[in-house]
Amino acid sequence: MSAALLDGRVLASRLLAQARRRASAVARRLGRAPRLAIVAAADASAGSYLKAKIRACGAAGVDVVVHRLSPGPRAKTLGLLADLAGDASIDAFILETPYPRGVSASDAAAAIPPDKDAEGVTPGAYGRLFLAKTWKEASGLAAPCTALALARLALAAGAPLSGRRAVVVGRSATVGRPAAHLLSTLDMTVTLAHSRTRSLAALCREADVLVLAAGAPGLIRTSWVKRGAVLLDAGVNVVRGRLVGDAAPGAAARAGVLTPVPGGVGPVTTACAVLNTILLAERRTR
Ligand code: NAP
Repeated sequence: MSAALLDGRVLASRLLAQARRRASAVARRLGRAPRLAIVAAADASAGSYLKAKIRACGAAGVDVVVHRLSPGPRAKTLGLLADLAGDASIDAFILETPYPRGVSASDAAAAIPPDKDAEGVTPGAYGRLFLAKTWKEASGLAAPCTALALARLALAAGAPLSGRRAVVVGRSATVGRPAAHLLSTLDMTVTLAHSRTRSLAALCREADVLVLAAGAPGLIRTSWVKRGAVLLDAGVNVVRGRLVGDAAPGAAARAGVLTPVPGGVGPVTTACAVLNTILLAERRTR
């Protein structure tokens, strides 16, 4: 039997409908819609993610202002970020990756104030997230979007989570590590695996929820998946011109529920960036 597909587009449109109601309430209080600024390189590298964010903002009633940066001095980029940080008409902003030449992740983290951090990628946002013990606390924060998306998909899968085993493959600051923390707020017992993990296959076979965030196509073989497991595949890899995740194509035969690639984690991640923007705008109205 093949796994049930957990369609991220369906969950994303449900989240964006909720976002729309909250955005209208913010608009009534602020006298304008919540507003997100996105800073992206002028070349095509950020293209499809940028378009998806603009569409999702439109669906939720969030204004979006896009700044396309031509290659230029680092100081110019940092100057723009400082302007956005000080601009009272901007509720949140995003510096798209890949960052403009000369700008590092730590530059970005220093330039984005935590109260305008739509992607939850600054030290302040991480600090707040790791202080949250329960899902109720964590889900009220502007946390890293892909990690939030993975936790929301785990909930949407409908399988019991409390006390069950989760294995997260990948320990990056933006995806695997915060996803592991968020699953622990859902009372799962979590193991965070990475490239030095021994016996990864055996570990994966114990997982009731298996999160893939390695960026390694086909890493997780069919026989590594516990029968009936929830398989959340954040991997985005291009293989012979096609987008694929980290799970081998046959994994659907053993999983109970599986996110497709594309159309699984990606759309929910985008919706989470929009929800984060609204959350930050709501805080400004208090
Ligand atoms: P990253 O920073 O490169 O981290 C990859 C992680 O995977 C590292 O912790 C690495 O271990 C681990 N890893 C790599 N190969 C492995 C292997 N063979 N066995 C076990 N662990 C392995 O990547 P990332 O930014 O977290 O992104 C991960 C994937 O998610 C990528 O495909 C990316 O495109 C995708 N992504 C998707 C979305 C979305 O919205 N769908 C958003 C962001 C990222 P070490 O730490 O030991 O090196």
